[in-house]
Amino acid sequence: MTIDPERAPADEIAARQLGRLHRLLAEVVPANGFWADRLGNAGAAFRRAPGWDLFRSFPLTGKVHLVADQQAHPPLGRIATHPRDAYVAFHQTSGTHGRPMVVLDTAESWSWWARCWQAVYRAAGVTAADRILFAFGFGPFIGFWSAFSGAREMGALSIPSGGMDGKQRLRLIADSGATVLLATVTYALRLAEVAREEGIDLRALGIRRTIHAGEPGASIPSVRARVEEAYGASSFDHAGATEVGAHSFSCSARDGLHVNEVEFVAEVLDPGGSPVPEGETGELVLTNLGRAGWPVIRYRTGDLAVNGGRACPCGRTLLKLPGGIMGRADDLMIVRGVNVYPTALEAIVRDFEVAEFRVVRLRRGDLEELRLDVEASEETARALAEEMRLRLAVRIETRAVPAGSLPRFELKARRIVDERS
Ligand SMILES: [Zn+2]
Repeated sequence: MTIDPERAPADEIAARQLGRLHRLLAEVVPANGFWADRLGNAGAAFRRAPGWDLFRSFPLTGKVHLVADQQAHPPLGRIATHPRDAYVAFHQTSGTHGRPMVVLDTAESWSWWARCWQAVYRAAGVTAADRILFAFGFGPFIGFWSAFSGAREMGALSIPSGGMDGKQRLRLIADSGATVLLATVTYALRLAEVAREEGIDLRALGIRRTIHAGEPGASIPSVRARVEEAYGASSFDHAGATEVGAHSFSCSARDGLHVNEVEFVAEVLDPGGSPVPEGETGELVLTNLGRAGWPVIRYRTGDLAVNGGRACPCGRTLLKLPGGIMGRADDLMIVRGVNVYPTALEAIVRDFEVAEFRVVRLRRGDLEELRLDVEASEETARALAEEMRLRLAVRIETRAVPAGSLPRFELKARRIVDERS
């Protein structure tokens, strides 16, 4: 009997990872200028005798290093292991904070992406019998394409909906008999709003599962409850990144994410680079094992997560991140000495009748202050302010704004506005 690698004992998972790391570095280090420089002697030593201590001596690498490499060696940088002819897929990041970053995949690493997505679908109970509608614009962002490839390879009917508005997508759901919706949680709620406006009974359309990515929302119980109520479906979370891969998914327990340690090495580290104990929050640092053509090794995702150990009712032994991604390390707000995570704020907001909201970061003197703008009644805004004072132990000015006055988002919501400078 073969053991399910997602349910193997922790030492078996680690042994398998080490073997794959060894093969990965044997392929990458001789051919990849970027990683040969980053890893230096430690990389060469690991190739001779792989071990976890040596692995943990590798430097942490962040997006800033990848971007600098691509700027110094345009257009692709030195991080591509193979000659350009070896690649079949070109994608780029949104470039919110500067120039977009290009990433390339070989046929082999593109299949690996598809395999990682199949783990996401499997954990959500999605099968080849499902019909999956992708409510995305299908631009050069890797997320939709990889999810789409994974669905097709699994054998599910895969339905794109780029260039459509909410009404058209609702029509497409009905016409195609879609059973699964892939969307950001923000967009899933937006689509529910459109259905209400159009008098469409969303629950009757036959969506039985929703899978969300790109935002922490789907691991926030109050947010998930809203989506599930609107669609009459079960909702699942997923986390991935262009530079890294489709790395984490929620299972039937739906209390956070598992990192797919079959395909990634995961670490949760404190700001000094040491592992945080179980139950504590740190930055998620990942190494992908199946993308030799464009690998990342000890990559700082910038995402905050709790080290949740390995116990889960679903039987998987893959590292658990309770509550999912807690937000970006950059988005941690400190208000009068209290750490306020964006997810904690959203969890409270979603307990109220609020159509849309945003958080404005302000500076008063030397101190950070927050203001919350909510599309809700004055009464709701007051109740919300009181609830935040109770649950977060901090006073946050809460302002009711007219319905429809805040921006709506299709992809990743940007609800934190920084007005500190
Ligand atoms: Zn689980």
